[in-house]
Parts: sequence; C-alpha cells; structure tokens
Amino acid sequence: MNNYFVILAAGKSKRFHRKLAKQFYKYKNKEIIDHSVQKSLDSNLFKKILIVTNNINHLKNKKYPKIVSFIKGGKERSDSSLIALKYLRKYKPKNVFIHDAARPNFSIKLLKNLTKNLKTNKAVIPVIPSRDSIKYKIKSQIFNLDKKKSLLTQTPQAFRFKNLYKLAIKEKKKVSDEASFYLNQNLKIKFIKGENQNNKITYLDDTKMSKTYYGIGFDIHRLIKNKKLFLGGIKIPFHSGLKGHSDGDVILHAIIDAILGAIRRKDIGTHFPNTKKFINIRSPKMLKPIIENLYKSNFSINNLDINLICEKPKVSKYRNRIINSLSKLLKLDKDQINLKGKTVEKLGLIGKEKAIACEVIVSIFKND
Ligand code: ZN
Repeated sequence: MNNYFVILAAGKSKRFHRKLAKQFYKYKNKEIIDHSVQKSLDSNLFKKILIVTNNINHLKNKKYPKIVSFIKGGKERSDSSLIALKYLRKYKPKNVFIHDAARPNFSIKLLKNLTKNLKTNKAVIPVIPSRDSIKYKIKSQIFNLDKKKSLLTQTPQAFRFKNLYKLAIKEKKKVSDEASFYLNQNLKIKFIKGENQNNKITYLDDTKMSKTYYGIGFDIHRLIKNKKLFLGGIKIPFHSGLKGHSDGDVILHAIIDAILGAIRRKDIGTHFPNTKKFINIRSPKMLKPIIENLYKSNFSINNLDINLICEKPKVSKYRNRIINSLSKLLKLDKDQINLKGKTVEKLGLIGKEKAIACEVIVSIFKND
C-alpha cells in the first residue's frame, strides 16, 4: 500500500462569487474539500493524504488525522501539482493519485478500481462520455466535435510515481491535468469508466440543493349534535358535527399545523386565535393563506400522510372525495396525499363516537 493521495486545493475560484475559496464552501453538510479527505481516509488505500493549498491557516484549525498533511500551493494548477510531486519524492511512493478538491462526489469504489488498474498500467484516468455536443474553434471558424468520440476526463487520476515525476519535471508547457503529460508524449493511458455524479463544482449554483423539512400535526375535536361534520374541507353526512371555534375540521387543522411545523412558523393557534374575527370560520379559509404563503416562499410539498382516528364515519367510504378536496385545496396531485382510517377498538371518547382526531405528517422541500 505505497499509495499517496494528492488533493489540489489552491484554486482561487474566480467564477465562484464568494470570499472563501470554493473548496471550503459547505456542501452536503461539510466543506467541499473534506468529502475528498474523508473518502481517501475511509478507503484505507493511502499512506499519506497531501493537500496543496494557499489557505494553510484555514486548514490549521481542522482536526485532521496525522496522515493528512498540507503544503502551500503554486499559482496555477500545474505548479501546485509539481510542488506536491517534489514534496512526496522523499517518501519514495510507488503510486500517486492526483485529485481536484472541486470534485467531492467520487466514490471509494472508483479509488479501488483505479488502484486495481494501476497494477498493470502506468497511468489510469477515469473518463465519461460527453452528454453535450462540443464545438471547437480554430481562428474564427467553429467545428463540431463528434459527440460519440468526445470524452470528459475526471479526477482522481492515478499514476506510477516515478513515471509521472519524470514527465512532470520534463514538461515545459502548463497542463490542465496530469493525463496531458502522457497525451503530449504519446504515451499509453488506461482509460476507465468515470462517474457521472463526479462533476466538478465550478459555480455557486452547483452546490445548491433543495432541503427537505418534515412537520407533524395533531388535532382532536368533540362531536356534538346539531352541527354539520366537515372533514378535509367537505361536508360528510353524520349524526353529529365537530365542536370548535371554527368548523372543527380536524384534518385541515392537523394539516395546517404540520405545514407550519415544517417551515418553523409556530402553530395554528398563533395564526388563528380564538377571537371574534375567526368565529365559525370555515377551515379551507384558514388553509388558503397558509398555502399561498408556502408556495410564494419557494417551498413545495412532497407528500402528506394522514391518519384519521374515529370509530365512524368509515374512512373508506369518503376517502376519494376527501383526497379530491385536499388535492384542490393544497394544489397537489392526488398521489401526493395518503389518507388512512384508524379505529380505536371502541375505547375512550373516540371509541364512543364522541370525538374525532387526526394526525398528519408532511414533507416539504425548499427550492433556492
Ligand atoms: Zn382544530
């Protein structure tokens, strides 16, 4: 296991409008660079992990294990790579992997595959076919590159150390990656299948992901005679209705609380207190502003799961009508909503048909 892993992280990220260099920006709960550090550590394939950076002070504050070290980088990528090779020479590495910190999404499987192929090759490079058609320009003329013949090279790239070192010292031109040394000299490269998810993070937009939030809601109302029963926004024929300041629609109330919970906006009582203003209000009227606000703030509902807890009415009889009504009120497809009926074995107030309860869980995502 005489393998060394080099992470190039000296770039200034001109295209990444942030004060902090992009490799230190948070992505999937950790800094971009730390995805590469963690995976190279977890692979157990490397004797040393060397970070080449111009942000030494930033890295000093981290608590990396001993096998991770860092050195100051150069002006260009190829300068930094050469600095790393010169630094590593004293360790007499057999193999060296060169990786760009801006690619946090490679897998450990890829590292293993590179290692395996390096046994019989001097240079192993992961590539993927191009998904876009590529044009190239010579003077003012633009030519089409055959998409089927176009390959995109990725990192980590794996090399026999001695071989790469010799080529890197000799090369006078700046290169965009280490594979170029071999291509420029017409030397053999073993190309292996890269990974589609292993994209380079170039723009701030690349790091944006929708976040998911969950909210839970619960409600219970007493059943009383001479009141209409409303569930999920529709009138259901029944011997009693739900008592409350409003129409007592437990389903809509639990949905409102679940949504408010997911977006961390307190509860239904805060938005609709028991004041004169809201006396006998129909619950769809309470739901409407909550939903409008939700969608205006760039949230979307992923799905809702509802437990209606009652002895009667039978949920299966009204399920389709209730889901239809909810899909209109919430502006959702019907298959985003699930409604389950739950009886309580005739126990307690609910079992004696004196109350109906409802619980709801909602999953919401925020699109930035
Ligand atoms: Zn209620």
